[in-house]
Formats: sequence, C-alpha cells, structure tokens
Amino acid sequence: MRYEGSVYRPPSEAGSLIIQATIGCSHNACTFCPMYWDKKFRARSFDEIYADLRRARRENARVERIFFADGDALCLSAERLLPLLEAAKALFPECARIGIYGRADNIRRKSGGELRSLRDAGLGIIYIGAESGSAEVLRRVNKGETPEEITAAVRRAENAGIAVSVTFISGLGGRALMEEHAVMTGKQIGEMGASFVGLMTLMIAPGSSISEDLRTGKFQPLDAQALIRELELILTNADCKKDCVIRSNHASNRLVLRGTLPGDRARLLSQVRRAMTDETLLRPDRYRGL
Ligand code: SF4
Repeated sequence: MRYEGSVYRPPSEAGSLIIQATIGCSHNACTFCPMYWDKKFRARSFDEIYADLRRARRENARVERIFFADGDALCLSAERLLPLLEAAKALFPECARIGIYGRADNIRRKSGGELRSLRDAGLGIIYIGAESGSAEVLRRVNKGETPEEITAAVRRAENAGIAVSVTFISGLGGRALMEEHAVMTGKQIGEMGASFVGLMTLMIAPGSSISEDLRTGKFQPLDAQALIRELELILTNADCKKDCVIRSNHASNRLVLRGTLPGDRARLLSQVRRAMTDETLLRPDRYRGL
C-alpha cells in the first residue's frame, strides 16, 4: 500500500489492513501529540479510498481486519462512512472486524440510529483518546473535550453495539496534577463502560508545546516510581461494573499489564506493587518509544 505521510494505528491493529479515509487530524492541537503535525487535514473522496481498497484486494490473499485512519476518520458523516464500510465488506468478505480512530465529538454528532447503521455495516470498534479523567488536565493539554463529553460518547457507541477502546496517558498531569489525573482517570474507567482501555505513557516530542513547558519548568514530568504509583491509583479507583479489558502493552509503557476489570484488579495491583520494589520488572528507557 502507498500512504500519505506517516500512518499510525493502535497496537491491537498491528495485523490489519490500514486504509486512510482521512488525512491528518481535524483537531491537531493537543499539546503532547506530534502525530499529524506534517499534515493538513482533509477528507479523502470515496473514489480515492475505493481505489486503495481495490489495490489492497489485489495485493492480499486474506484480510481479517481493516482499520480506517488517520487520526479521527470517524469525523466523516455516517452518509460518507456507510458506503465505505459496505465497499470494504464487499471486497473483503472474510474481514471479521472493521475499526476506526475517532474523537468523542465524532460519536456525539451521530444519532443512535446512525451509530447502529454503522455497526450493521461492519464497524466493530472505535478507538478514542480520552487521555485523562481530569477536566483540568484536558484543558491544559488543549484536548478540546471534557471527561463528561467523552464518557457520554463512549456510552452511546457501546449502547449502539460498537465496542470502544479508550486510551489514557500516564504522566499527562505531571507532578502538579498527578493525583487528580490518576484518581479521575480511574473513576472514568469505572464509569464509562468501555470494552477496552489502553494505557500509554507520556513521551515528550521535541518541538511540542508541552516540551516548551518542560524546558521552562512549567511542566514537571513523573519519574519511573511516580508513574507506577500513579498506575496503582488509577487501578484502585477503577470500579468497573461491566468487563473491561485493560492493557498497558504500548511501547511507551514501563510496565506491561494485561487483564480484565473488575475480575483481575487484585492481580494487576499486586503486579504494580511488585514493580514498586523491583525495578527489573520495568522496561528500560532505551526500549521505550511511540
Ligand atoms: S491526540 Fe488525537 S485529537 Fe489530539 S491532536 Fe493527536 S490525533 Fe488529534
């Protein structure tokens, strides 16, 4: 496949066929996110995307998963997404799941009926970045959305039968807001009812506005032990009422966790507490990446 610029996908879409339905991110303003700096946002036409799907059909004997990028491809209206999903299913009848990146706002702008139509057309999972359960942290990183808006969007998609995978970023509150970030993130995980939660760890990109805050001392990052303490607080506050698969398998993380809340909470917490006294359980800095 040929792609326009760098292409990103969630860890669990590593084996998927990636198709760019949009280029860049329509928001492109979060202070910590360098992923789409080099791109001017635009929606691709159906014909452009369909040409990619047909090329991929010629190049791949079997495709079990398809993932629509870039950063918030779900910003396309249901009217534009439905023909894409139908074309993908027609060309790849063996495909078991179609996923997409989105912002909570993209979900909120769709009616319940539209979300159910997208599900019926094959959309199985939406990946969104919540980043933090703290409204103040989201304000500081210019997320452009509140935790309440994100929780409401996750519930609407899950109620429509589309699984949602929500990412939070360890360390995003820095030292000043560590406790608030951790407690509110844990509470949000417990309340929003997402099928999946992924934890990443803040990696500061040179040239980002958060890197400028780091240089001036306005933002003070967490060290390895504080990150583990934060993880403990997140898990302690995550009172999930329905099963939620939680993973910290992203390359940016120091400690790899996998389990299902609420059942595995005690095991995950004991893993975290072991890492507080045994640094050999942590991934060394040189092996971390975005
Ligand atoms: S974090 Fe998500 S919404 Fe924010 S700029 Fe990056 S891709 Fe866009």
